[in-house]
Amino acid sequence: MALQRPKGTHDYLPEGSPKIQAAFRASSFQTVLQIAQTVLERSGAQFIVTPLFEEMELVKRGVGGSSDIVRKEMFTVFYFGDHGGYVLRPEGTAGVVRAYLENGLKQLPSPLKLWTHGPMFRAENVHQGRYRQFHQVDYEIIGSESALADAEAVALMAQVVETLGLKRARIRLGSVGDQADRQAYSAYLRELFTPHFEQLSDDSRDRLERNPLRILDSKSAGDQALIDELQVRPLLEALGPEAAAHFAEVRGYLDAWGVAYDLDPSIVRGLDYYNRTAWELHHEGVGAKSALGGGGRYDGLAEELGGPATPGLGWAFGIERVLLALEAEGVNLLLAGGPQLYLAALDNENVALAAKLALQVRSQARAEFAYRALKPGQIFREAERRGAVYAGLLGSQEAERGVVTLKHLKSGTQREVLFDDLAEALAEAAVLEQA
Ligand code: AMP
Repeated sequence: MALQRPKGTHDYLPEGSPKIQAAFRASSFQTVLQIAQTVLERSGAQFIVTPLFEEMELVKRGVGGSSDIVRKEMFTVFYFGDHGGYVLRPEGTAGVVRAYLENGLKQLPSPLKLWTHGPMFRAENVHQGRYRQFHQVDYEIIGSESALADAEAVALMAQVVETLGLKRARIRLGSVGDQADRQAYSAYLRELFTPHFEQLSDDSRDRLERNPLRILDSKSAGDQALIDELQVRPLLEALGPEAAAHFAEVRGYLDAWGVAYDLDPSIVRGLDYYNRTAWELHHEGVGAKSALGGGGRYDGLAEELGGPATPGLGWAFGIERVLLALEAEGVNLLLAGGPQLYLAALDNENVALAAKLALQVRSQARAEFAYRALKPGQIFREAERRGAVYAGLLGSQEAERGVVTLKHLKSGTQREVLFDDLAEALAEAAVLEQA
């Protein structure tokens, strides 16, 4: 049998592919990225690219040694000498903050807004919306403690989602407080759960020691029943005065700007470096437990990575889950579309000339050309298969007079256009067509 792609990965396919699935259309993937780029760069964000693999130590410190990601889901690349080895990155933030510190980006105007996108890797149990290679769009604001930064980041996430055309995505907003708040809350959880140790799942027994906050995030039904039974007081109600004031400020801005969100006291986030504002983006189309995205403040991260204390925050959404949500809502992302012109010669002598004209048209519009002479009927058929707007015919008579016959495929109308006017005529037609 021919070789197949690894489990938990996908091929994003071009339109018309026989095995194409709505959530894995390359054109939809591309459109999500284009929309994200437009919206995010309007906020002043700059693009950054970091490696797909990083030091194991970076991921451990960045994501947290007690997280499921580090404990169970790392793709180790190889071991080299006696340092901890490399891993395929499971998320984007740790790499971006490392790059910020390593490359002296502090010197740039602060706060610095950065965005990136690319594949992330987690050795997950694969099912709907949970893959081993998936893709994220990441947005980070580094260098500010202001509640305005938190509110701006949440608002931008909402704006990307809205621009994509998603109507049923909801932001769930909470705060995980400052470190002291989390420590006090962890002590409270330990005290609460220790007498019920026997009832906890194996994972949660382990969490009780390492990081009791994570018990609240448990996927085990038994754990969740115990959490209900014990009437665990939410962290949001145990914030210290500073974190509480910061959170109130964030909410005030969002309310004033009309950014919709649901308050969610249960948000704890799976990653260790978050503090204060934390949020998730949810959509019922991808399952109750599966978020489209998440974000939050991570003021402690830069220090954790060995740099000077640097406040920051960011968010990420998974492109696959966004595509699943779009599919569930029946939203069809605008496709890049076929060429404006499909041009072919009617005889061999003019094949090269047709190609040259198509290359010229590309300065202003999308154009393709045939690699050999075709009959008119074939030209129209090929043009239609490619979704072209115009079919262009170049016979020897036309070549002598310096014109191309353009047929508008939808209406069937034909006209002749001078070689020199071709690019402009097609660019103009493209604009009119979009209007
Ligand atoms: P996280 O870094 O875990 O907060 O994940 C951020 C977003 O990435 C999630 O909301 C998902 O949209 C996406 N994501 C995380 N893990 C996976 C996965 N295994 N497969 C697909 N998408 C994922």
